[in-house]
Amino acid sequence: TEQSARELVSSLIASIPDFPEPGVTFRDLTPVFASGPALHALGTSLTEPFAGRFDVIGGVEARGFLIAGAASAICGAGVLTVRKAGKLPRAVLREDYALEYGTAALEVHEGELPPGSRVLIVDDVLATGGTVGAAARLVERAGWQVAGISVALELEGLGGREALGDRYEVFSLLQY
Ligand code: AMP
Repeated sequence: TEQSARELVSSLIASIPDFPEPGVTFRDLTPVFASGPALHALGTSLTEPFAGRFDVIGGVEARGFLIAGAASAICGAGVLTVRKAGKLPRAVLREDYALEYGTAALEVHEGELPPGSRVLIVDDVLATGGTVGAAARLVERAGWQVAGISVALELEGLGGREALGDRYEVFSLLQY
């Protein structure tokens, strides 16, 4: 159940104070990925709320890839790889987005999916929403639809949900 997934995943998330810089508490999901039952529970719980409403899972490099891969093995959907700039070899669409310091960019291959494909975007942590927001814009520019955004952990107070607005349905298993 979602409640047992919540308990299992939250028991395994490690919180590291002052990483990667003073004042930031880093939420480390590698113990969740290292546990078969926890990874399975995470993959199930992030896709179940959108059951029947997506065709493909969009995984954001790099931790989103792990969640997307696990979820795809459970529900049978394929994975759209949303990559950091400069990694994809064919024609790409690119979206720049703001980080706390500086900018970053994500890319997808043009034409990777049939027009109108419904993409469920997944990642580990929703903070300011810049990352999944850029992924969502890429999906739309490519001619696909955003079925929703689903994350393991939402850091409330950083305004991610508000920044994404009411254009997208956002699900988080845990809220810190
Ligand atoms: P965002 O601000 O929502 O664009 O988050 C940027 C990216 O950094 C996301 O892919 C998150 O996985 C990651 N991230 C942001 N804040 C944290 C944090 N406190 N702990 C772990 N990962 C984080």
